Amino acid sequence: MPTTSPQALARRITRMQESATLKMSQMARDLKAEGHDVISLSIGEPDFDTPQHIKDAAIKALNDGFTKYTPVPGLPQIREAISTKFKRDNNLDYDPSQIVVSNGAKQSIANLSLTLLDEGDEVIILAPYWVSYFEIVRLGGGKPVVLLGGIENDFKVTAEELAGAINENTRMVLFSSPCNPTGSVYQHDELEAIANVIAKHEQIVIVSDEIYEYINFSGKHVSIGSFPQVKDQTVTVNGFSKGFAMTGWRLGYIGAPTWIAKACIKIQGQFTSGATAFGQMAGAHALLSDMTPTHKMRAAFLKRRDMVIELLEAIPGMKVNRPEGAFYIFPDISAYFGKSADGMTINNSSDFAEYILNKGHVAIVAGSAFGADDCFRLSYAASEEQLREAIRRIGECVGELG
Ligand code: PMP
Ligand code: GLU
Repeated sequence: MPTTSPQALARRITRMQESATLKMSQMARDLKAEGHDVISLSIGEPDFDTPQHIKDAAIKALNDGFTKYTPVPGLPQIREAISTKFKRDNNLDYDPSQIVVSNGAKQSIANLSLTLLDEGDEVIILAPYWVSYFEIVRLGGGKPVVLLGGIENDFKVTAEELAGAINENTRMVLFSSPCNPTGSVYQHDELEAIANVIAKHEQIVIVSDEIYEYINFSGKHVSIGSFPQVKDQTVTVNGFSKGFAMTGWRLGYIGAPTWIAKACIKIQGQFTSGATAFGQMAGAHALLSDMTPTHKMRAAFLKRRDMVIELLEAIPGMKVNRPEGAFYIFPDISAYFGKSADGMTINNSSDFAEYILNKGHVAIVAGSAFGADDCFRLSYAASEEQLREAIRRIGECVGELG
């Protein structure tokens, strides 16, 4: 086979799906560049800027000479700050040596997949799931086992349903709470019941993605790793992108049992060496300083959530629940399947997203990317004006379906 042929690519990349969230936001950018008035509600990115005091900490760190390679798992300053944060906010005891800082939580999860999975190991992914979980698990050789929670239970999977999906090949359970794409928050009792199930299977590692921790409207965030029965089986993933509006800084981390932390350090040492030095200093500062900007962002998201729900509920056929965190709404649109407009029939969530983008110039993401083809994801990390106009357009497009 000629090396210039696309068939010469490795199987691991040819069978990989492109990230639907990133693809959709690129399509929106392209349409905008052609001069169309596009509103993009496709990407999960706070529309706020990073708080000034965090930027100032990065500038100071640069001026102080934090411009070199750091230890692979992170500078002592940030590992200590994260250890303190875990204790303070999550009732989790991770020694700084159990913390690994990476280039975004995305890399943290990739490290875990590559270090923990062997060919054929099963990973139960609670669905609807964040788009990248599926491909990251497959890249590690794992077999994704998707367990879908329905809208009637706020898209959450119960402990009983989880128990039914576990077998001797199950190696990992992976989920986010608050959840991307649904905004659902697993509450104390639900997590405790799940912990009780997993504690019976010591070969299972829980990967608990808590990156939306600070965007929780339902009270105190609960970390599953704080239940003693699963403490030694849990890896807690978190990052700075959402709570501190730091998506472009590429800074995420885990707290993990020592043997897992060591393995992640080993793989990261061969892949990226670690996160940016001055970014780490700013991250340490962010965790240990005033959280008022984060609380203000959460209040703004809550206000938008209520507005978005009210507007969407007014559209006939749109089924909406009331998520308790993150900045997503995940409406069920199956009522429109089989209906047509402009010569196009809507048969699934991808058709719906395409129709809304092309006709209404609003970018959303098809639920199929998250393992739930009856739904679509709308990110309300946008201004109230944009949200109002976008939902008006969605309503207009839907009104033409017949
Ligand atoms: N987990 C979830 C649930 C997310 O929504 C995101 C956002 N892309 C990530 C992980 C990755 O975040 P980052 O790499 O920006 O830290
Ligand atoms: N987590 C965000 C999202 O779901 C960012 C995009 C991505 O990394 O996939 O839209």
